[in-house]
Amino acid sequence: MLNIVLFGPPGAGKGTQSEKIIAKYDLKHLSTGDLFRKHLGEGTDLGKKAQGFMDNGKLVPDEIVIGMVEETIADHMDANGFIFDGFPRTVAQAEALDTMLEKHGIGISGMISLEVPEQELINRILERGKTSGRADDQNRGKISTRIEEYENKTAPVAGFYRKQNKLNNIHGVGSIDSIFNDISAAIDNF
Ligand code: ADP
Repeated sequence: MLNIVLFGPPGAGKGTQSEKIIAKYDLKHLSTGDLFRKHLGEGTDLGKKAQGFMDNGKLVPDEIVIGMVEETIADHMDANGFIFDGFPRTVAQAEALDTMLEKHGIGISGMISLEVPEQELINRILERGKTSGRADDQNRGKISTRIEEYENKTAPVAGFYRKQNKLNNIHGVGSIDSIFNDISAAIDNF
């Protein structure tokens, strides 16, 4: 299986590039943000637990996220591979992911990390907020909290994969297609 972690701060372009990666490599998209929004929309218990954190731009607690991912992986073991988008977001999540994949006899092939300067992230998220309908995209305070959460809790995840020689940094500014070309070149080396 080709299992990719797509990594980067909020607004880095993970959703956009995921779509292109999935189309080219035929992978199952596992976006924890999308899964949470689906639970929220359906009013499930899990959605209710996650809502307060999401509304405030905070990370949802690890045990809630990990349980949801574990279930989704088990349900899609017939896929060619997974693209993990927005997960893992803490080192504890990264460790849990390795353990769950090992149980299925698989592992992470590599990480793609999209690098984008902070001001560009804020501009992109505010622009997206005009049409995404996401409350967390429309408020500068919430956007700043998300970027702070990223820097404090999520950025160390890159080091976790660097130690495993799986980290690939990709410059995330430029045309969607040129960024995708760089990503494809990295994936073809996994
Ligand atoms: P973005 O990358 O633009 O911030 P996402 O759609 O990935 O957006 O996530 C939206 C929100 O969902 C996050 O701010 C957080 O509250 C929650 N969330 C998503 N994935 C995780 C995760 N792996 N761990 C904790 N919280 C998460």
